[in-house]
Amino acid sequence: MRKNIVAGNWKMNTTLQEGLELAKGLDAALQGKTVNCDVIIGTPFTHLASIAAAIDTNKIGVAAENCADKEKGAYTGEVSAAMVASTGAKYVILGHSERRAYYHETPEILKEKVLLALANGLTPIFCIGEVLEEREAGKHFDVVKAQLEGSLFNLSPEDFGKIILAYEPVWAIGTGKTATPAQAQEIHAFIRKTLAEKYGQEIADNTSILYGGSCNAGNAKELFANPDVDGGLIGGASLSVDKFMPIVEAF
Ligand code: PEP
Repeated sequence: MRKNIVAGNWKMNTTLQEGLELAKGLDAALQGKTVNCDVIIGTPFTHLASIAAAIDTNKIGVAAENCADKEKGAYTGEVSAAMVASTGAKYVILGHSERRAYYHETPEILKEKVLLALANGLTPIFCIGEVLEEREAGKHFDVVKAQLEGSLFNLSPEDFGKIILAYEPVWAIGTGKTATPAQAQEIHAFIRKTLAEKYGQEIADNTSILYGGSCNAGNAKELFANPDVDGGLIGGASLSVDKFMPIVEAF
């Protein structure tokens, strides 16, 4: 059966020293606690190796926030999936709306990134979600379906089974505006139905679908109580142990 997961996305925040302190603080806060979800932190590339070495990675999984769409070679400034895997990170966030919007990551590019992540043993946390105009036009179902088809539905059932999905309505990211629990459940159920149509009910039922978008200590419980919401991808509230831990403990 699918896992409950709470994953942080630090984005371009924290120096290495600050990030290490945050990761160690979370590690300490989880010490001796039994939580009912997997905990993951997505950190800048520069932090991955140090953080993976400093914490108990059986308790806290480490994720990169991106990887290259090329295997290796003359791509100055890029970081490959193999490099990410060599740090001890086990996950990679792909397709975040900020990468799609600011760095022009297309479904085709993301398709390559997913394949390279999987080939290097990384678990992709793949983000999908509509912008406000699409939601207002009632196109959100079509948009998420197209995002799945464009970057993931080329995968074999076996490989698709390794994917974690994150539904993140772009209008809710960093805005303080959260999808209502009913809105989240409605589209998560639609995503699961779409997965069932493509890969069958068993794979659909085993896929964790996280909600992301201004999720915090105050709304996590209600969002996670939905049958098709299997946790959260947390931006702002993952930058402090005091804000992140109550979300982890919302399960
Ligand atoms: C995100 O960027 O993945 C996110 C959900 O951000 P926030 O929680 O800050 O809205």
